[in-house]
Amino acid sequence: MDYLILVNKDNNLCINYVPNDLVSCEGTKKETLCKEAYKKFLLLKKDALKNDYDFYINSGFRSGQIQQKVFNHYFIKNFNELKGNFPFDDDERLKREAYIMTTKRVALPGQSEHQTGLAIDIECYYKGNYDEDIADLGEIDWMRDNAHKYGFVLRYPEGKAIITGYNYEPWHYRYIGEEYAYDLTKRNITFEEYHKLVLKKH
Ligand SMILES: [Zn+2]
Repeated sequence: MDYLILVNKDNNLCINYVPNDLVSCEGTKKETLCKEAYKKFLLLKKDALKNDYDFYINSGFRSGQIQQKVFNHYFIKNFNELKGNFPFDDDERLKREAYIMTTKRVALPGQSEHQTGLAIDIECYYKGNYDEDIADLGEIDWMRDNAHKYGFVLRYPEGKAIITGYNYEPWHYRYIGEEYAYDLTKRNITFEEYHKLVLKKH
């Protein structure tokens, strides 16, 4: 796997793409991740524990098929909501509207970085609860200062939706390897910008 692969709304994976080095993540129901990314996550977790920050993987690899199901679920939900509000409106128009609404929140199959097996949504175990919203917990500072040492970068920083296509997601980190993660973090730019300015791709 190319650790520098860029996946976003403009750069899609084939819907059937599955990484060939997925491993199971211990302590999760069924999460998997590319071997190297998982190995580095375990190192990160071990060091974070020294500060009493207990990180878990809430979501790792997600197949194109699963992403399609997730997308459909929200599409139907949005359509039903619209239909409830505008019962006499044309169904085709409502479907188009529901589709647009859904794409703003949910990636289409092939557009989710989770399909690379290199992206993680982290959560913390805190006072007896799992909490995905690490922004509230203070762990966020530790991740911001340390994630790059293990090859991870914050993929959707605050105020960069115009570039990344997604709003701020403090829980979503992406493995790109230590060397590049150090460099990207030092430059304080998005992965999209890094591709364009430094890697000179796309
Ligand atoms: Zn995510």
